[in-house]
Amino acid sequence: MTGCSHRNCGNSEKVWLMHTYGGKDCGLKPHPYCVECGLVKNLSSDKPRKIGFYINIVAALGERLKISKAQMRLVSMELHDSGLDDSYGLDRYQQEVLFTQIVRKYVSVSEKIIRELL
Ligand SMILES: [Zn+2]
Repeated sequence: MTGCSHRNCGNSEKVWLMHTYGGKDCGLKPHPYCVECGLVKNLSSDKPRKIGFYINIVAALGERLKISKAQMRLVSMELHDSGLDDSYGLDRYQQEVLFTQIVRKYVSVSEKIIRELL
């Protein structure tokens, strides 16, 4: 998923897919996709955030919940590996879902607490 610089397909090759906003479907729209890796470009107006934003949340969670340095490192490493900052394919809602999944894999914290920080 990561490591691709992404090259859009031509106009005539675009695929008709559901356009989403905040995780809700907003009807069909032609989406370009990457001819290198096949990832469909995110067209949502719900712009993705930089990975630094999510790393800061991990730090804030760490202080609040007394998470060990080792756990926080695992979360940060997986965030970097997950393609979370691949703004070609993810919108903010999808990023938040992915972020929540990764954090909860290593830290026992409720989704509600994570949501409060997002
Ligand atoms: Zn690509």
